[in-house]
Amino acid sequence: MRRIEHFIGGAAVAGTSGRHGDVFDPNTGQVQARVSLASADELDRAVQAAVAAQRGWAAVNPQRRARVLFEFKRLLEAHMDELAELLSSEHGKVVADSRGDLQRGLEVVEFSCGIPHLLKGEYTQGAGPGIDVYSARQPLGVVAGVTPFNFPGMIPMWMFGPAIACGNAFILKPSERDPSVPVRLAELMLEAGLPPGVLNVVQGDKDTVEAILRHPEIKAVSFVGSSDIAQSVYALGAAHGKRIQAMGGAKNHGIVLPDADLDQAVADIVGAAFGSAGERCMALPVVVPVGEDTAAALRGKLVAAIAALRVGVSTDPQAHYGPVVSAAHKAKIEGYIQAGLDEGAELVLDGRGLSLSGHERGFFLGPSLFDHVTADMRTYREEIFGPVLQIVRADTLEEAIGLPSRHQYGNGVAVFTRSGDAAREFAERVEVGMVGINVPIPVPVAYHSFGGWKRSGFADLNQYGQDGVRFYTRTKTVTQRWPGGGAASEQSFVIPTMR
Ligand code: NAD
Repeated sequence: MRRIEHFIGGAAVAGTSGRHGDVFDPNTGQVQARVSLASADELDRAVQAAVAAQRGWAAVNPQRRARVLFEFKRLLEAHMDELAELLSSEHGKVVADSRGDLQRGLEVVEFSCGIPHLLKGEYTQGAGPGIDVYSARQPLGVVAGVTPFNFPGMIPMWMFGPAIACGNAFILKPSERDPSVPVRLAELMLEAGLPPGVLNVVQGDKDTVEAILRHPEIKAVSFVGSSDIAQSVYALGAAHGKRIQAMGGAKNHGIVLPDADLDQAVADIVGAAFGSAGERCMALPVVVPVGEDTAAALRGKLVAAIAALRVGVSTDPQAHYGPVVSAAHKAKIEGYIQAGLDEGAELVLDGRGLSLSGHERGFFLGPSLFDHVTADMRTYREEIFGPVLQIVRADTLEEAIGLPSRHQYGNGVAVFTRSGDAAREFAERVEVGMVGINVPIPVPVAYHSFGGWKRSGFADLNQYGQDGVRFYTRTKTVTQRWPGGGAASEQSFVIPTMR
């Protein structure tokens, strides 16, 4: 059986903890590899490698650090097909979507290539008599990232791109479900000229994450995953004096106003609800038509569009989406479909029981559509994270703004309308971090930043963009005066002022 190991100090390092996890091919349902799960001692070995490498890396001038990222971009593009296929073979998303996963991460690396400009500080000449003040942003040292299964290319790059550009060394703890692409990314960074030890991949699970949160040499941890775990990571990391950003789950709504271009909205909603089998934190699993006429017309068009979806293996170029990630996750989604029926929602299309010829043991689920879902239902309140779309009907724009605003999650939301007034009011008032106006998946571009509100994000700094640079650096402010540079001051026992 193939082993997937750690990558520490620029080389593959075999696990010694005796613990491992199974890595499946979701298309066949078979175990295809075993991933080592690190102990606290193995993590410490990676941290020591990172500590040894970090000072030298921080001393490399930012332009030369950026050149490594430029070369990494070239290498990643050259290896795009191989990486996308590897990603699909462990995650299950279709290969074209895996390319998108890698591309969105690469865009953050492109942003990070601007690090010489991004790290420029502030300077005030003559803040007082003969006194100048400057502020610089310095790297934190060794930092870590813990990533979820659903974007094994993009999310590691969201984190290590800016962190390494800023002069930190990085420990990546990827999801144990699809751990191969993160290792390939680290290998390519080494090939691009990154010194050994600056980027390390430590495979692991909950125990490894706890060791990261307790390790005294790790100064900051970026986490992306489900909300309960994000919240506990936030709390445990803070208790150990670390800077933490912890992004959680989601339940994104698509609001359809009566004046929307319905055909366009349906095309957008179906892609956003079922792409990647709904396993995206920016998926659109809830649609809210405003008014009965809108609901009737929308439902008819949705049924037709969903019935035409093709579910297939990841390598099927005609497939709209592939299998879900694991048998356990498939069973959880099926449980939610049953719960939706039990709590009185109307199951318009039932995706359970799909069997793909030749892949009967793969983790496939057909698309499901519920109508007449209400805000008190458990299946509405919780994240399903599968190919299930729920229609929640609203009578007014006011009601439609209230649904996502009152929901425990506040990651993304979209409104479909031709009215600038309505869209503007919606965007201003809705209590959600990322808003799309006739844009179904409003993941911000790399030079803005990504972050949800409420239980979707336990952090005050977002991922990537300027926030990413702030997260991975700390400000040092120097106030200086030189002899002869201004009037000599007398001994004083009063707090200094610039009177
Ligand atoms: P998960 O929370 O199960 O796992 C995320 C990471 O945490 C993994 O690396 C895992 O090994 C680790 N982990 C698991 N249990 C842990 C524990 N008890 N303590 C500490 N660490 C633990 O999430 P997942 O199933 O891999 O990913 C799907 C979830 O991630 C969904 O809820 C999705 O909405 C969310 N997500 C959020 C964003 C965002 O930016 N807000 C982006 C992608 C995914």
